Amino acid sequence: MDLKELWQSALNDIEINISRASFMTWFKNSSLIKKEGGTAIVSCHNNFTKEWLENKYNKLILKALRSVDTEIKTIEYTIKADNAPKPPPKTPSNRVYISSESIPLELGGYVVDKDTNLNPRYGFENFIVGASNEVAHAASLAISQDPGTKYNPLFIYGGVGLGKTHLLHAIGNAIKERFNQKKKIKYITAEKFLNDLITSIRTKTIDELKHKFRSLDVLLIDDIQFISKSEKTQEELFHIFNSLYEKNRQIIFSSDRPPKAIASIEERLRSRFEGGMIADITLPDLETRMAILKAKAQRENVVLNEKTIETIARNIQKNIRELEGAFNRVTAYIKVKGKEPLEKEIEALLSDISRPNNKILTPKQVIKAVIDFYDLTEESLLRKSRSQELVKPRQVAMYLMREVLKMSYPNIGEKLGGKDHTTVIHACEKIEKELVFDTQLSQEINSIKEKVFVE
Ligand code: ADP
Ligand code: MG
Repeated sequence: MDLKELWQSALNDIEINISRASFMTWFKNSSLIKKEGGTAIVSCHNNFTKEWLENKYNKLILKALRSVDTEIKTIEYTIKADNAPKPPPKTPSNRVYISSESIPLELGGYVVDKDTNLNPRYGFENFIVGASNEVAHAASLAISQDPGTKYNPLFIYGGVGLGKTHLLHAIGNAIKERFNQKKKIKYITAEKFLNDLITSIRTKTIDELKHKFRSLDVLLIDDIQFISKSEKTQEELFHIFNSLYEKNRQIIFSSDRPPKAIASIEERLRSRFEGGMIADITLPDLETRMAILKAKAQRENVVLNEKTIETIARNIQKNIRELEGAFNRVTAYIKVKGKEPLEKEIEALLSDISRPNNKILTPKQVIKAVIDFYDLTEESLLRKSRSQELVKPRQVAMYLMREVLKMSYPNIGEKLGGKDHTTVIHACEKIEKELVFDTQLSQEINSIKEKVFVE
């Protein structure tokens, strides 16, 4: 098998593992250029792709390559020789490339249980209950006292950073403790489930895998919206689900949207999700946000004024992870300055997280952020080319100008090299539609927004 065939076969494998958009973005222009000892050398068409393949897809690529050629042990990534050398990406933007999978298991002294995948950091004792999450919390608590009998399955959904993962771990941890480790529990993200399944199909160990899942007492699957990527996975999940359900074993799902909004999910699976209890988590009110901050301050032995807490909570409204980030910023400030910041100072400190829309931004800044992110030149973005690598960033730029800067369609067209306003409308609509399903795209756009507002 030559390099080209080897790569093609790996690509076939990779393609079924990730969304079409991600595949097109990251793999279309890549190739396998060399094999040296146990090292495969993959060429990428720009720096950004290289980073992304290294950080996010290395494991997947390695697995795919090894399934055809077991000699391969590692992969090195290089940038295509004919692409002029580019300076390495600036450090501030690096962090946006780090996927959650690459965050070490041990965080802040908490060790994730290898068997159950549960993180002891997340418990009911440090979950603050408010109107936004009380139903999800109550159902979770009830389940953890008597798994398999009450709400089965439990389906929790809500936006990013609102505590879904926290609740899933809390359920698992509570059951583990209450039943003296006698219950078999597993927490897994849907993405990991998908990968495990595909590996087991390839290595012909699918029966073992099925057996492992079917013997569980409690199965917690996080971010189930990713399941829609593969029919085969849905099929297997359906069988595992039925087998557990019939034996009164507890199943809990989380998702960023309700079952009916998960695209291309099989009807029978959807109706299973809907057959149990569905609880949503909405945005926390001011009181809950303040309670979360107070609890955090107490845990970390930080003394903060009521006023400071309120100012932070007023400024960060949509995401509890961001609220925690804001807290860390303010406490870092206090450590350095030795005093609590005034209201105005807190607002300045948090301005990029909190109310980015108030910052005065120009189309130039948006264009710059987009070309930096996709590693393009401004000239190529504005050029009249229909090549896919350019069309997508251009559409993203149009979308951001509309969404963030509220510019008129003709005005956007003009700023992007004289495009017709109907082209702009089409682009904005297209991106908006894709955003609903394509989490990769939404991550990209969030990263770009973050860059626009921070820099
Ligand atoms: P999601 O899975 O919904 O994206 P996470 O469960 O990862 O969100 O929550 C993000 C962060 O916010 C975590 O550090 C979590 O501990 C914290 N958090 C979320 N909700 C609460 C809550 N009600 N009380 C305390 N901390 C919370
Ligand atoms: Mg989560």
